[in-house]
Amino acid sequence: MRTEVELISTGSELLSGRTLNRHAQYLGEELARIGLRLTRDTTLGDDRTAIADAVRSSLERVDVVFVTGGLGPTVDDVTRDSLADVLNREVVTDEESLRRLHEKYASFDRTVTEGAARQALIVQGARALPNSVGVSPGELIEIDGRMIFLLPGPPRELKAVFQEHVVPCLVEYFGSRTLPEEKVFQVCGMGESDIISLLEINDFPPEEIDIAYCAAPGRVEVRLSAPHEREDELESAASALRSLLGHHVFTEDRRAMEEVVGGMLRERGVKLATAESCTGGLVGERITAVAGSSDYYLGGIISYANKVKVAELGVDWATLASDGAVSEAVARQMAEGVRESLGADYSIAVTGIAGPAGGTEEKPVGLVYIAVADKHRTIIKKKRFPGDREWIRLWTCQFALDLLRRRLIGAV
Ligand code: ATP
Repeated sequence: MRTEVELISTGSELLSGRTLNRHAQYLGEELARIGLRLTRDTTLGDDRTAIADAVRSSLERVDVVFVTGGLGPTVDDVTRDSLADVLNREVVTDEESLRRLHEKYASFDRTVTEGAARQALIVQGARALPNSVGVSPGELIEIDGRMIFLLPGPPRELKAVFQEHVVPCLVEYFGSRTLPEEKVFQVCGMGESDIISLLEINDFPPEEIDIAYCAAPGRVEVRLSAPHEREDELESAASALRSLLGHHVFTEDRRAMEEVVGGMLRERGVKLATAESCTGGLVGERITAVAGSSDYYLGGIISYANKVKVAELGVDWATLASDGAVSEAVARQMAEGVRESLGADYSIAVTGIAGPAGGTEEKPVGLVYIAVADKHRTIIKKKRFPGDREWIRLWTCQFALDLLRRRLIGAV
């Protein structure tokens, strides 16, 4: 059986720009984990004939096809009818799915109307794949050794059905394949091109190792891979890369910076406070997006206006007047002020010009001061970030968290 897989994402909202198609990203990554390769994603509106044509054409190329969306109760939910057309089959009620539907509705004090009961319809001969977080089940249709999976559109429902039913089914069918070994390095503080130049100068990687890069604001993922039997070579390449990149590597897995820093704060049993100006609370948002962050995060002050910097953080008017709000001196006072007023061990402060207005020749858009304070000292970095307002704010958050990380490991 071929290990290439095709996806047909359906839903007119995906083509009108109202919804970003996220299924290809999720399924591409998850299928790769079990040794399968997503080779094509076709996005279509709620068009019964177009979906049927796309399924026929995918089946000419691959043995596993996913069709997502359009399994709900409304008239524009046409996926199962399209498949019935392709296979010359009827659409029938799946009694077990109908029973579950009644049970789910009853738990919300609702009764199943005739329209809602459509969600228990499946293509004749299909196997219903129960949806533990939603209502419409997925379906598996097997024909001549090929598999067509119909999956619900809402991403959390798709993920649940995929993990609970599709993965076991694919693993059983394809067996556990020997995947290439992989080592992942997340880097902050060096751009993609700087990393590439450094590695080139050092003749890295060795021939038998593959390398891939993926960049995002303030983060570059470097991935090394090699066939299973070259595990030892991969291990020594990883250790060479580790010493070339040094403290710029913030983790060797896929965790985000806030999870890494959060873990360090928890391990050390210390508390953090934040004072934010140009990021308006984004640093705090990222820290608190990690479950359990109350163990180490006390809170923050969004000191956007100067009078809040003065009243809440103890920044002095004279410094604001002489150096301006975006300055090393004010960043220092913000960090020290919030650390003291919230009684934290560590603090982060950011002040900068996110634009698009407000820049001058001396203080251009993208100029940001980031400070990290603890009981010993306050470290301040002056940065000039590229991009628009959104990017500048993202870069700032990432570097602010990274500066704290470096302080915690004693690298600054
Ligand atoms: P429902 O029972 O909720 O109607 P469904 O299986 O019929 O589910 P759709 O109606 O096609 O699925 O989509 C429901 C919602 O799921 C869409 O409004 C959209 O928000 C989201 N969705 C669908 N497909 C995608 C996709 N490819 N990427 C991201 N979101 C999607």
